[in-house]
Amino acid sequence: RIAYVNGRYVPHGEACVHVEDRGFQFADGVYEVCEIWDGYIVDMTRHLDRLARSLNELQMDWPVERRAMESILRETARRNRVKKGLVYLQVTRGVARRDFAFPKTPIPATLVVTARSVPPGNAVKIGEEGIAVVTTPDIRWERVDIKTVALLPQVLAKQKAVRAGAKEAWMYDKDGFITEGASSNAWIVNQDGTLVTRPAERGILRGITRAAIMDFAAAHDIKVEERPFTIDEAKAAREAFITSATMTATPVVKIDETPIGNGAPGSVVSELRARFHEGVEKLPLSV
Ligand code: PMP
Repeated sequence: RIAYVNGRYVPHGEACVHVEDRGFQFADGVYEVCEIWDGYIVDMTRHLDRLARSLNELQMDWPVERRAMESILRETARRNRVKKGLVYLQVTRGVARRDFAFPKTPIPATLVVTARSVPPGNAVKIGEEGIAVVTTPDIRWERVDIKTVALLPQVLAKQKAVRAGAKEAWMYDKDGFITEGASSNAWIVNQDGTLVTRPAERGILRGITRAAIMDFAAAHDIKVEERPFTIDEAKAAREAFITSATMTATPVVKIDETPIGNGAPGSVVSELRARFHEGVEKLPLSV
């Protein structure tokens, strides 16, 4: 495997950043994960638009020009021969003596890109079986709309899920409304087939896959309600699912100890999953 680190492609095992990198010291950095599907990068424009926003919110500059970033993502995926899988990018504020405030004189940002294949069989199995989720309080900070690498609350939430034999944790706010998954957005399907998901303005990451599902729904006359929903409403829903770049739309068949619907993936999410790639932007790895 090959990784990109600050201008160089290096063997994955030798890919390193400095001990005083602000990403390591303070989680002072942002990231993106794009799906690679059938030799294409999915929705790169939206991912890089969100990256631009994350960087801007943290008063960071692009580490390389956007066009160069696109080339690096493609080249990293190509060098790792990824046809189905993911490409990961991380930008940190750079390397400086450990001080909380930004360095007084500008320093070069750190850019790291990795890519890896995911066996297609995994996705088939998960689509057929669905996943279980557990609920856990959302203990994150208020700026979860920024895609930072400060992910400790999600690490703990995911570990709780794993310990319970589940694949994802759904976090809930102080009023008992689901915010989102540890690394995904949360959805339910009403008895009348309407999709329900929390509004993007507050308390969640504006998922790219979430936006793609909205587009698909709009194009196919599927109703979507953007409103918060409670754990109890989710447990009583006809279907439930999560969305993320690496999971597309994945059925949720159990929340805590409660089976959803008849405990098997529902027809709405199964169709969303099967047809997910129809409408998304697909950029070939080689141009
Ligand atoms: N919410 C959180 C907290 C996430 O970490 C992710 C995945 N990075 C998502 C939602 C899904 O976002 P996307 O569809 O852009 O992968």
